Amino acid sequence: MTEREHVRVAVIGSGFGGLGAAVRLRREGVTDFVVLERADSVGGTWRDNSYPGCACDVPSHLYSFSFAPNPDWPRTFSGQEHIRGYLEHVTDVFRLRPHLRFNSEVKMMTWDAERLRWDIETSSGSYSADLVVSATGPLSDPKIPDIPGLDSFPGKVFHSARWDHDYDLRGKRVAMVGTGASAIQIVPSIQPEVERLTLFQRTPPWVMPRVDRAISGAERALHRALPFTTQARRGLLWGLRELQVQAFTKRPNELGMVEQLAKRNMARSIKDPALRARLTPDYRIGCKRILLSSAYYPALAQPNVDVVTSGLSEVRGSTVVGADGSTAEVDAIVFGTGFHVTDMPIADRVVGADGRTLAEAWQGGMQALRGASAAGFPNWMTIIGPNTGLGNSSMILMIESQLNYLADYVRQLDVLGGRVALDARPAAVDAWNRRVQERMKRTVWNTGGCTSWYLDANGRNTTIWPGTTTEFRTATRRVNLAEYEVVRAPAEKKTEKSEVVDA
Ligand SMILES: Cc1cc2nc3c(=O)[nH]c(=O)nc-3n(C[C@H](O)[C@H](O)[C@H](O)COP(=O)(O)OP(=O)(O)OC[C@H]3O[C@@H](n4cnc5c(N)ncnc54)[C@H](O)[C@@H]3O)c2cc1C
Repeated sequence: MTEREHVRVAVIGSGFGGLGAAVRLRREGVTDFVVLERADSVGGTWRDNSYPGCACDVPSHLYSFSFAPNPDWPRTFSGQEHIRGYLEHVTDVFRLRPHLRFNSEVKMMTWDAERLRWDIETSSGSYSADLVVSATGPLSDPKIPDIPGLDSFPGKVFHSARWDHDYDLRGKRVAMVGTGASAIQIVPSIQPEVERLTLFQRTPPWVMPRVDRAISGAERALHRALPFTTQARRGLLWGLRELQVQAFTKRPNELGMVEQLAKRNMARSIKDPALRARLTPDYRIGCKRILLSSAYYPALAQPNVDVVTSGLSEVRGSTVVGADGSTAEVDAIVFGTGFHVTDMPIADRVVGADGRTLAEAWQGGMQALRGASAAGFPNWMTIIGPNTGLGNSSMILMIESQLNYLADYVRQLDVLGGRVALDARPAAVDAWNRRVQERMKRTVWNTGGCTSWYLDANGRNTTIWPGTTTEFRTATRRVNLAEYEVVRAPAEKKTEKSEVVDA
């Protein structure tokens, strides 16, 4: 039998979510934990996405931890290497290195109802843990569509999140598939270098200008000297987005004005009315993620770019074929086709109290109590779980709320004492999700007339939080024990019983 290392908490993943959980656990006085990471360094999204032009689209002072402000962000929207560097820095400053277990892909975790613990199999060994915090990321497993003929394409193929830096795109004929957040950063970055760029656009995105600039030395010096100025800057960025979200969640009709701004952004660069028409969305702005770029449309207007207004449907040798029948000869195909979001791969690897996997439990759609815990999966919680995503603000705000919930979860287990687990009551999970879905009905994500990666195969929005980040923070401040069944180990139940009898 293999030896198992037992820890109080196993955190899975070392992106913003996993590292944040590690910091929070230490702050709660929990030091008996590991962070299991399949890769060989921390960073998650910001380690894996190194494509040209990769940067955050929420300003850096908001897209960072509130407990680890960085006065030295170089740009308003900092690039991937700086965000990755920031996460490495957080790892050092909060002394997380001893907890990290790299090259440890979690293959399976199974609830042991006798011993009230999770048995975890990883690619580097076996663990058991009283509590699992799953922070495997909503956008960490790239999705490449099943395209007939792709296997026999003689050129280079890769996904935006697995960029092949050894392959030189200069002078090549490149097909870019997809027009989401990654693609609109890639297109202007590679367009000047490639011979020809064929962009496959199934649905045009709404694109607003990105007011990106270098943060001056004086500003940075001010932030260093007077830390409250960094907090004030963050507060302002947060407040503006908090106000905006009302239009997304309650008054989508007000978004018409924003559409005008986005159309003006396009008209500034796209002079050809036919191309403008092909690039203009036919759904309400905000229904799909609003993208920010001041370089995307100017790149599309260049003579070496072709926009195909349909998806890639087939590959014949080195010819890519669009669903509209158009063809192009290419040397490389780059997929900017997103991630497995509503079908989280980790869900296949979690086996709960009744022997079912989380994926089976979520067959009708993902759902969790307060975005964190699922019925039948005791002492297992997820960071950025179902309906915790945001359409317009920083995911770090949601992650930090979930960390509050985690901290209280740990405190509640301590107060209850002994070998104990909390299992979300099905009725509580249902009630929470009914409320979420009820509020979702009038949001732009459900009424805006688009299909997006926010929706699952049944058309249900299981990814976005239909409210303000403040509302979510309030809802996750405390663990309400009435929403959980308190599970005791069978041996302890006997002991408790005999104690009562003895008394
Ligand atoms: C290109 C891009 C740009 C983005 N820009 C923004 C932005 O500007 N603003 C914003 O709010 N959000 C943005 N996001 C969303 C972003 O994913 C989140 O903000 C945040 O980084 C998620 O952190 P996470 O820790 O939950 O997940 P991740 O950063 O994805 O980390 C998950 C980690 O889990 C590991 N893992 C997964 N499965 C296993 C397993 N089985 N075993 C062990 N380890 C595993 C992965 O290797 C990874 O390191 C962006 C996403 C992408 C892809």
